[in-house]
Amino acid sequence: MSEFSANNATKPISLSHLGWGGNVVCVICPNCDWRYLSVPGRITDECPHCRAGGLQEFQSDDFSMMTDFIKPPEMYLPFNVPQEKLSEKLSQFAKTIPFAPEDLTIQNLFSRLRMVYLPMWLVDSQVKANWQAECGFYYQAKSHQEKFSGGRWNTQEVIETRTRWEPRLGKLMRQFHNISAPALDEHRRLMSALGNFPFEQAKVISPSELFGNATTFAPMVRIPSRDKDDAWPDTLPRFQERAREETLQACAADQIREFKWKPEFSTQNWTLFLLPMWTSYYLDDENKPQSILVNGQSSQMSGTRRASMKKAKKVSLTILIVAVVILALAIAAGLLGMLVPGLMLLAGIGLVISIIVGLAAIYPIATVWNVNRER
Ligand SMILES: [Zn+2]
Repeated sequence: MSEFSANNATKPISLSHLGWGGNVVCVICPNCDWRYLSVPGRITDECPHCRAGGLQEFQSDDFSMMTDFIKPPEMYLPFNVPQEKLSEKLSQFAKTIPFAPEDLTIQNLFSRLRMVYLPMWLVDSQVKANWQAECGFYYQAKSHQEKFSGGRWNTQEVIETRTRWEPRLGKLMRQFHNISAPALDEHRRLMSALGNFPFEQAKVISPSELFGNATTFAPMVRIPSRDKDDAWPDTLPRFQERAREETLQACAADQIREFKWKPEFSTQNWTLFLLPMWTSYYLDDENKPQSILVNGQSSQMSGTRRASMKKAKKVSLTILIVAVVILALAIAAGLLGMLVPGLMLLAGIGLVISIIVGLAAIYPIATVWNVNRER
């Protein structure tokens, strides 16, 4: 809670002042420390991230200590995976786990789905800069080539495109909009689990639209864990890239290289860009929730695979009992074989089969051990 240290000097700021409308609460998970905004009465007390119970409402009239973390939503990507596809993906995942824990059923995974929006920062800023670069202009160069064909030499005209590089410098004064930057410390880990999002399909959003459409539970919006100071350096290469593109256009050049600039930033505006993620979970042998994350746009899924050693041991034991029974029959046949010579061969075959079946009992335990070794 250190980053939310109270600042008594400021006037009380309510959540609605921070651009989230009146009917929104801030809840905190005491287990994983994820913080969310959502609608009261339409959330459970279970954290959609770690699945621990006991989400606590941050009850205060004053949110001034959170002003660097809670900003209004501006753009979002909606949840866009049809139920059938989601169900198919979940069942595919369940099938990849051999000797699955009892709790891992498609019904459980489906009924535990929760919607979470992951935030990214969007920054608008006024920029004043001096820049210099080398601009490349294409031009057509004519040359002649001699070719030998049809028993004689022919001269052929060849036109090729070359680039003329010219040094340029200038001043730039612009308002840049919606430069994005990660708003979570675990952004990289989450994105590698969820895969790409189609940022070009982003839509404008207001809080009421965001929470209005859900059928049962309201989506939970994760509050950034990186404040503006943390995220700012990540925006600089993107500002520079935009400036570079604009310079290319302004110079009417075909290419640009060695772009350097000295920017001064002023009058910034920070808002949030929200990415959709489904979460679900199943309980492993130790009743520990193993979480599953699903990209709300592409349905790319990621989850820890945990097989059940309990189940594997039961199966191994059954196989072992079968092996012992076959062995007992083989021994009986062997004893009888002393009287009836034909039975000796049968006893020998029985002995071999019991050994093979006995060895097969290792398979379930080895398989589970192998799956659970994955990280
Ligand atoms: Zn949690």
